[in-house]
Amino acid sequence: MILGPLFRGHRFERSEGLKSWPEIYLPPITDVDFPILTLKDTNLGMIPVSSNKKLRMYVCGITPYDATHLGHAATYLAFDLLNRYQRLSDKEVIFVENVTDVDDPLLERAKRDNQEWQELAHSQIELFRSDMTSLRILPPEYFVKVTDSMNLVEDFIGLLEKHGLLYSVEKDLYFSCKEFLRDLPLTMDEAVKVFAERGGDPQRGGKRHPLDPLVWSANVEGEPGWESRYGFGRPGWHIECTAIACKYLDTYRSDPVIDIQGGGSDLIFPHHFMSSQLVRAALGRDFSTHYIHTAMIGFEGEKMSKSKGNLVFVSKLIREGLDPMIIRWALLSGHYQQDRAWSLELLHKATAEVALIRAALAQNLVAPTRQLIEDIVKAVAENLNSPVALNRLVEWADKSRREPLVNESGVVSRAIDSLLGLAL
Ligand code: ZN
Repeated sequence: MILGPLFRGHRFERSEGLKSWPEIYLPPITDVDFPILTLKDTNLGMIPVSSNKKLRMYVCGITPYDATHLGHAATYLAFDLLNRYQRLSDKEVIFVENVTDVDDPLLERAKRDNQEWQELAHSQIELFRSDMTSLRILPPEYFVKVTDSMNLVEDFIGLLEKHGLLYSVEKDLYFSCKEFLRDLPLTMDEAVKVFAERGGDPQRGGKRHPLDPLVWSANVEGEPGWESRYGFGRPGWHIECTAIACKYLDTYRSDPVIDIQGGGSDLIFPHHFMSSQLVRAALGRDFSTHYIHTAMIGFEGEKMSKSKGNLVFVSKLIREGLDPMIIRWALLSGHYQQDRAWSLELLHKATAEVALIRAALAQNLVAPTRQLIEDIVKAVAENLNSPVALNRLVEWADKSRREPLVNESGVVSRAIDSLLGLAL
């Protein structure tokens, strides 16, 4: 069963919806071959990405109440490298990112701090935009708030309803997922446990299957809600992303609907799993060709997370006078799919290396550049291997100090600006 695009007859222009952040010019890199990008897909292993001219990429966005910690920054940086590489290889990338601007943790934080939830969300979205700008992350074509997407969610729920896949528990609506559980990435017991830890309610009485996700939650006194044909309430988490992704990216009736679904590895289950099952149920098509996940950033021996209370924020580091390019360098000096730690030592190393590169770029004569640029392109092409790219740069800067030969520092400056987003 192949159904057409979900939402017809209305083309969204870039200016519509939430304001993204400023576009960045990518200086072209000429005379260098760009091999097809290979990525490590969570389901498929190492695999070349589609050679299609257009790449449709959806990256799950923040819940705006603790933006932007270094774990967030590392994730968006990885997809930024991917985005840059594709564009420099003369491909078009349509990149969509959402903002989960109504959600339990956001409401709880607002309540705790005696603040209006909209005010908290607004201020955190502003902060996120400014952090993304400072870190030189290419903006999405569509940056979409969930609170602007209620009609999309309602339409998406309508498709599930048409296929008889909804039921209610009291006034809340659930998606009956049982027949879509074939590819569960965990054992059932583990899945139920993780589902409970990540916002699910496996134990709730009246559910047909413990893993059935909520798609529309009836309003609770004192919480925000929206009118819909499913009652006054708000959407469940997973369906928000599928409704937004299908709205902005499903324009080609293709199967799968998009090319890349991305996010942190904590989204593999249930969020990305449930999103893919929702799309399969609603449209009869696969959601995404690739699922690409980024590893976690640790701090002082533990995973950086809100529950541990050990978050390090980009805006705080910048306020303390740290150059955002040093933050970018420090995060890129580890591989995006390897859990790694943020530390003072890492920061000092990044500061010294950035100073070394800047000194080389300021020289009239430097070491030859062609092989360097080819090596950096090759490293990025092989699963975004930024640590190898940065090591090559450091070697080149060292060599430039010892054997300066050619007047080509500008070529390196432009290439690392384009490919790695490092404006040094
Ligand atoms: Zn999402």
